[in-house]
Amino acid sequence: MPITVFFAAGPANWAEYRAPLNAAFAEAGLDVAMSDSAPDPAAVDYIVFAPGGIIEDFGPFMNCKAVLNLWAGVERLVTNPTLTQPLARMVDWGLTEGMVEYVVGHVLRHHLGMDAHFHGQDGVWRNSVLPPLARERPVAMLGLGELGQAAGRALTALNFPVMGWSRSAKDIGGIDCHSGEDGLAHVLTRAEIVVLLLPLTDGTRNILNAERLALLPKGAVIINPGRGPLIDDTALLSPLDAGQIGHATLDVFRTEPLPPDHPYWAHPNVTVTPHIAADTRPSSSSQVIAENIRRGEAGEPFLHLVDRSRGY
Ligand code: NAP
Repeated sequence: MPITVFFAAGPANWAEYRAPLNAAFAEAGLDVAMSDSAPDPAAVDYIVFAPGGIIEDFGPFMNCKAVLNLWAGVERLVTNPTLTQPLARMVDWGLTEGMVEYVVGHVLRHHLGMDAHFHGQDGVWRNSVLPPLARERPVAMLGLGELGQAAGRALTALNFPVMGWSRSAKDIGGIDCHSGEDGLAHVLTRAEIVVLLLPLTDGTRNILNAERLALLPKGAVIINPGRGPLIDDTALLSPLDAGQIGHATLDVFRTEPLPPDHPYWAHPNVTVTPHIAADTRPSSSSQVIAENIRRGEAGEPFLHLVDRSRGY
């Protein structure tokens, strides 16, 4: 009997993922029958899912061995009470590489002060302001998971002093690791650039509130490719207006797409990118999905399982 996979990640993803997934199943030696239309729920072995996908109620999929999410973030899924099956999030080398490139690119933009040259071509030769070396520019990485560690390592390879902050204490070569409320205050008071790569949970919502933003050195830059609600938007706008925060580069927002009349669009010290920091890549992520199905069939533990009690 073939393994029944229900691709419930929407028609656009189906067009992109169908061929790479079938190729990955074949490469893994799996006999899979995959469909994007609702089959008999009781016959489904695995669900490939993405937020905005076509299942609200996972209850009828009573024999489903795992729900395999195409995205890294699972905040919209962990709160679904009908989802009792094991839930795996996406950890994909293509996605990780994309995030590292986004973070390094935007850190270097602000570190090198590139905007002054992009926007200031007025015939005046201003050569008095030089950026410090990366080794003199402390960066805080909030979140030291798959993406935060990879981005942090890439920045340390460029000599940035990287301070990291996570829920549990860590020891990562080259990164000055902290945890807890005191650890957060420690990194924020020293960071000239702050990168948010935390998941959205009850413990991280509005983590950058007015009080914590006030800890940052004057002119600090915030880069948020994590999730929009990690930052209290109202609390961010006034220090941006006052120049206390030098710039915010934001990829993710409470409401997406970001409404056209949102003050972020017009703010001179905000860069909006439209949730493009790192996409799941069909070819590499299909291998992850196939490997998890192989594991499920072999009775081996699934990769990248979400801990419901932590919310990520
Ligand atoms: P991950 O591997 O689960 O890592 C999460 C990190 O956050 C861990 O270090 C974790 O600490 C830390 N953390 C969680 N809750 C915390 C808390 N209350 N206090 C302090 N630290 C906390 O996640 P990931 O794969 O790196 O992804 C991070 C997030 O990036 C995703 O959840 C998603 O929202 C976002 N993302 C965005 C895009 C985009 O295109 N913009 C793409 C992919 C992902 P521990 O290590 O102690 O567990």
